[in-house]
Amino acid sequence: MSTCNTNCSTPYSKKRYITFGIITLISLILPFIKIGSNHFFLLNFEKKQLHLLFTTFDMQELYLMPFILIFLFLGVFFLTTLGGRVWCGWVCPQTVFRVIYRDLIETKLLGIRKRIKNKQADSKKSPKKIIAVAIWTILSFIAAANFTWYFLPPEDFFVYLQDPTEHRVLFGFVIAIALFLIYDVIILKEDFCVYVCPYARVQSVMYDEETIQTVYNENRGGKIYDEKHELIDQRNECTGCEACVTICPTHIDIRKGMQLECINCLECADACTKVMGKLGKTSLITWASSAAVEEKRETKFIRFRTIAYGIALSLALVALFMMGSTKEHMLLNINRTTQLYKIKDEGKVVQNAYTFLFQNTDSKDHTYYFEVLHDGISILKPSKSFVLQAGKKQKKIVILKADKSLSQNSEKDTILDITIKAFAEDNAKKIVVNRETTFIYPSPYSVKRYLTK
Ligand code: SF4
Ligand code: SF4
Repeated sequence: MSTCNTNCSTPYSKKRYITFGIITLISLILPFIKIGSNHFFLLNFEKKQLHLLFTTFDMQELYLMPFILIFLFLGVFFLTTLGGRVWCGWVCPQTVFRVIYRDLIETKLLGIRKRIKNKQADSKKSPKKIIAVAIWTILSFIAAANFTWYFLPPEDFFVYLQDPTEHRVLFGFVIAIALFLIYDVIILKEDFCVYVCPYARVQSVMYDEETIQTVYNENRGGKIYDEKHELIDQRNECTGCEACVTICPTHIDIRKGMQLECINCLECADACTKVMGKLGKTSLITWASSAAVEEKRETKFIRFRTIAYGIALSLALVALFMMGSTKEHMLLNINRTTQLYKIKDEGKVVQNAYTFLFQNTDSKDHTYYFEVLHDGISILKPSKSFVLQAGKKQKKIVILKADKSLSQNSEKDTILDITIKAFAEDNAKKIVVNRETTFIYPSPYSVKRYLTK
């Protein structure tokens, strides 16, 4: 009989360590990746900007946010339906941090814990514990700084670091995160996953019978617990060695079936692979859907739910890209002033006043001006273009004039729909926006009354 079914393949723990390394590297490097001044991803609280895929969006361009949130939520639903708690065991920072602290620092580096495969026993009392806490404290501060780089660009962070007393809120925030990480990883441990994390509570409603999980094969191993989780110990192939129990970081016995506490780390599957491998058998604990184990077949990854989520995710992604590509490189808000109009030159000229709020949302300075797309209406003020620095806003009082009659009614004032075309003179093809507003032209009766006032 071949003993090389699961025994010769790479253990899940090794694959997870490689994944942890890649994720940690990406998390550390990503905030530094930018083209020009545009980051790959940055939610800049200070400048109220979102940087996404090297494009900067002003907070006023929040039309992107719903698409990002829809994409994130659908992504979580899709991932959970397909892979159960794959996030918890393979990606979640809590799991990564616990593996670094418990398995790497306490066990491998300092030997405070005897073996990685026994996570039930607490670390022994040793002066080396101080070193473990000190190392984790340093790493906590690095992780806390790394987290803030997604909300404040690292280049600004390091400048502010030279004078932390001037940036007390920022560094208070970093210290608070670091202190939480120290408490969480050293004291709270996996209780965070079991009692605090909201994702652990809601994920089970996203499961179906084909969702992959850590599953004990009761058909082969035998029934160890009844439905009420009482020990009945009707073992078959299971040796009762409990290697799968002692290695479990959340202190559960997977032979009881799916439990809220299971973070899908698959350490128990690796442990059983070793035990059963010595007997020439494959592991009794596998990463598969419960239906697949029950019916002795492969897990069905392509099914109605996953296809539906896949389509919805693709649509959200397309919408996100389309909305992102229609980004305006300038913003313009137009408000009329409270005064309806002014009449000059004995009724020959009518003026309307507005407040224009220009914003340069591009990464370069530009010279702006605008046109009125309506016959008979022209710009009186401002008379020339103006420079606006990258990311800056400027209010302009704008006066438009009509020097020929546009009245359409002898009794009532005429409300004319007009279009303002604003543009950067140095790049009018790309940086241009059209805004609709109104111009009010008085009736002959109103002109007469105005002039006799
Ligand atoms: S039962 Fe324990 S060891 Fe097995 S996957 Fe779940 S959390 Fe990990
Ligand atoms: S490691 Fe495998 S054989 Fe040992 S108790 Fe767990 S399921 Fe049974």
